[in-house]
Amino acid sequence: MEKIEAFHALLSEPRKVVIVTHFKPDADALGSSLGLAGYLRKKGHWVQVITPSDYPDFLAWMPGNDQVHAVVREDARQLQVAQDYLLGADVICCLDFSALSRINSLGETVRMARGRKVLIDHHLEPEHFADIEFWDVTSASTAGLVFELIHESGETGLIDDAIATCLYAGLMTDTGGFRHNNTTGREFLIASRLVERGAVPHRIAKEIYDTNSLERLRLTGYVLSQKLTVLPEYRTAYMLLTADELTHFGAQTGDTEGLVNYGLSIRGVRLSVLMYDRREEIKLSFRSLGGFSVNAFARRHFNGGGHHNASGGTTRLSLAETLQHFLSILPLYQQELNENQ
Ligand code: 5GP
Ligand code: MN
Repeated sequence: MEKIEAFHALLSEPRKVVIVTHFKPDADALGSSLGLAGYLRKKGHWVQVITPSDYPDFLAWMPGNDQVHAVVREDARQLQVAQDYLLGADVICCLDFSALSRINSLGETVRMARGRKVLIDHHLEPEHFADIEFWDVTSASTAGLVFELIHESGETGLIDDAIATCLYAGLMTDTGGFRHNNTTGREFLIASRLVERGAVPHRIAKEIYDTNSLERLRLTGYVLSQKLTVLPEYRTAYMLLTADELTHFGAQTGDTEGLVNYGLSIRGVRLSVLMYDRREEIKLSFRSLGGFSVNAFARRHFNGGGHHNASGGTTRLSLAETLQHFLSILPLYQQELNENQ
């Protein structure tokens, strides 16, 4: 059976659907989840969105946000509620991730839950744990895949302005505001259809890109003036933030998002890395230009992955040890980093 038919066969009568997305969700993770939730509710299903962690305030305006169950700081009671939702679901939709480790301890719950699993994602090297996969690495965003699923089901008419807004937000951010090399005609076509269905581009851009706290701007200024190091011989830029610095600047979840891109904007730089201390772990963000695969790099050395030019990872080392580790492996890539256009 065609997977789209299989998907609708699963949902041929009212179901309990749980939608889960990755740890520290970004706009694509949350927007695709809320967009799909809105669509499935219109089709008569009971839908609950859960996230394995909190997420930035600049995403909280999204329509449907108030119905999300977020597990904040692995709180035992909130975790239990999330597990109960998952175990009680007929259908579990996993959006914007393809390895169960990306949803932390909820991964094991999803693995053993009786519900049928649907994956909608665009990350490299999936784990293949789902019954039905809408997996397409050529799509710039998961939100775009959700749009296409609805569109190919002949149900574009069910997309209202709330759904369109959530999906557009995901598409806009995963293309870096339609600037990254994953932006093709397909993305503009989806964007155009979402605008027709009620998404207002300037409002969404304002909410996501142009709504800062003063603390976040000050943090950005501090990182750029004091914490950015360039290694010309490796065409690499990196930035480091300690837990104390984050506390000092009153940093909230999401305040570090986008910092890594500044490194990549320096002429000649091909690899940019942000490392910061989340206290429970060290988080790394990688961005590259051209042929250098940060997916391979993050997977091999930092227990992570993502996309060819945008990936993330973590370590359980200290921040200083993480930097040492990074600096010790860079020479292995010197040639590759210098070959790249
Ligand atoms: P960011 O640097 O913005 O956190 O993430 C960049 C991309 O890499 C996103 O697509 C994100 O989903 C993915 N990513 C971030 N952190 C991790 C990680 O620890 N593991 C894996 N597999 N992917 C990650
Ligand atoms: Mn995404």
